[in-house]
Parts: sequence; structure tokens; C-alpha cells
Amino acid sequence: MNTYRKSVYIIGGAVIPQTGPNALSNEAFDLLAYYNKENAMLIDVHAHLLTEGMLNRHEFWGPFMKVQGLTVGHFSLGTKQPAKAATDAEAQANLLARMTHASRRKLMAERGVDKLVMSTPSHCFMYWAGDFANEYARLCNDELSAFCRADPDHFDFWCHANLADPLNAAKEIERAVTQLGAKGVCVGGANFNGLEAHDERLFPVWEKLTQLDVPIMVHGFNQSIYWGEKHTDDKFETTSIVGDCVDETLFFWYLICGGALDVFPTLKTYITHAGGMAVFQLGRLSELNRAMAPDSRNQRPLMDYMHNFYFDLDVHAPGLRRGVAEVVGAERLLYGTNFGGAYDHGDLTEGLGLSAQDRERIRSGNAIELLKLKVPANAGRVLTS
Ligand SMILES: [Zn+2]
Repeated sequence: MNTYRKSVYIIGGAVIPQTGPNALSNEAFDLLAYYNKENAMLIDVHAHLLTEGMLNRHEFWGPFMKVQGLTVGHFSLGTKQPAKAATDAEAQANLLARMTHASRRKLMAERGVDKLVMSTPSHCFMYWAGDFANEYARLCNDELSAFCRADPDHFDFWCHANLADPLNAAKEIERAVTQLGAKGVCVGGANFNGLEAHDERLFPVWEKLTQLDVPIMVHGFNQSIYWGEKHTDDKFETTSIVGDCVDETLFFWYLICGGALDVFPTLKTYITHAGGMAVFQLGRLSELNRAMAPDSRNQRPLMDYMHNFYFDLDVHAPGLRRGVAEVVGAERLLYGTNFGGAYDHGDLTEGLGLSAQDRERIRSGNAIELLKLKVPANAGRVLTS
């Protein structure tokens, strides 16, 4: 039994005893702990991990960390930042130094983050990489799991699966969730080597996720990876910078229009980058699904499926975040920031006019519930009696 259950808890100035006839149930106590402002926990469900074991696994596809950036086949991740490394070996060492438990924990402490739920970087999804794609999914999951097992209070993970091969993807998801401790699966937005989210060939994946009762996270990837040597035709890194959001919107649209949510009504999907454009164009999608898409297979009005979706507040203007919170509602928002990535905007729930309780739901409560996360025993500020 944890010692905190024997003590008192202070919320809103009131002392709540944890022993005697008026004691709260453990469940109610935990709920209070999550929602108490002074106990604010922050769980960032959008963070990526690369380990040494996830690099240099295939002679062509790598992935390689080079002076010019993360390299997968012909593709190298664009950056305007001056190369800090003189050699590829140095570039890899620099990357891996940022990915250790200690350096992650340091940055988490600086930003007040209590837990990360990490995934494979989208450039490495490998849907395009033939036989290597299944192998790479397995080794990513082994690596993500090993990293999290070393510090389970602070790290959890979304597994990776090769959705271009749905039957094997379903098997790998089952292995990752039941044997390795994955909390869900992270997938691209569109083009799983030709498959889209409306395709019934993906039903075995949705079926497996429903059986296991774990959610999907959707994160777009650069379509220029399919262009091979011509990936440099992608001007201004558009298939990443704009394309990720377009593809995330396509996933939302295709999953609904393809009828998957009528067959698997409990399937849950979290779409990052505030849903791409899905939330911002929700009225258009809803109205025109009914009026202009005779081939759509969804049996209910589009808005009826909103309870299957979660979003985050990863847009930069507070006004847009207020809009997302109002349209989506605090009960279906998670906290995701691409932790450690190109930008940090402080607490995304601040200044939106949300109640303390709603902020806590977004910052941690919803993630704990949706991903069935274990919360460290020391979560919650406790005064011992
Ligand atoms: Zn990301």
C-alpha cells in the first residue's frame, strides 16, 4: 500500500482525510490527485525516439544520421541549421547524446514534463521499404520498449507497425502491446505504400486495436520519400511542413468515409498537430460528406464520430488553441508538442480560459485514461498526517 493513501490530501483549501469513515475510495483519491492544480502532472504524448539500435540497420534505408541530417534512402531531412558535426560519426553521436535518459530527463525537468509517450520518427516509418519494413517495425518496438523499461515512471511508447502489410502489422501490434508494453500504435496519415485509411484491407489492423483496446496516434510523414532520387523536387520541404497536416486530415476523412468506425465503433484515434486541418474545416467536412460524397460508406452523420477522435493543442496562436478547445472539448484533448523538436511554446493550456480541471484533463488526465498509463506513486502533492 502506498503511504499516501494513509495521509490527508488538501484540495481547494479543504483537508480530506484518508483514514476513518469519511475517507475517499482509492479511485476517488486518485482522481482528485490528477485534477488538483497543485499536483499538476504533464504528460506529453508526442515525442520521438531514435536509439543506436534504430540506426544503420539497412544498407540503403539506414536510417543514417549524417552531417546533412537524418537520412533514409535517398532522402535527407531538410534543415537550415548549420551542421554542428564535421563527420557523420559525430552527427550520430550528437543525436544519440540528446536521446539518453539523462538528457531527456533534464529537458523534461526544464519544461515541467513528467512523462513522455514516444514514437518512431515519421521519416523512419519505412512503409516504402519493402521487406525491411516489417523487420524495422519489430526492432523499433524492441528498442522503444527497452528504453522505457529502464525508467517506466517517465517513459512510455506508441509502437510502430508496417501498415503497408496489414496482417503482419496486426501481429506486430499484438506483440508490442501484450509483450512489450506499448500503449498504442503511431501511424502515418496517408499512403501506406498505396493503402489509405478508407481501405478495408486495413480492417485487420483496426480489429486488432479494438480487441486490445488501444488507440492510434496519427502523425504525417514526408511523401517525397516515395520520389527516390527526385525527392529534391519537393520544394521548400513542402511534403513535410504542409503535407503532414494534409495527410493527417486525410486519415480523419478516410477513416470515417470508409465506414471503419461503423464496423469498429470503439476504435480511438488521436491526431496530432491539432488534427492537421480536420478541426479547422470540420463544418465543411461534415456538411459535404452528407451532400456531396455519394460513395461515402459512413452510416451516421460525420459529427457522430467525433467521440472516436482525440486531438492536441499543437498550434501556435493562443486564439487557434482556444478555438480547438471550444470545438473539440477538453474531454478529447491530449497534450502533444513534438517534445524536443523545433519549437517550444510553454504550457499550451495557459491563457485559453479553461478551468483548472479542464487543464488537468488535457495535461494528463485524458492521456492516463486513453492510454491506460501507470502514474508514478509520487504523483500528487501529499501532506502526511
Ligand atoms: Zn513529431
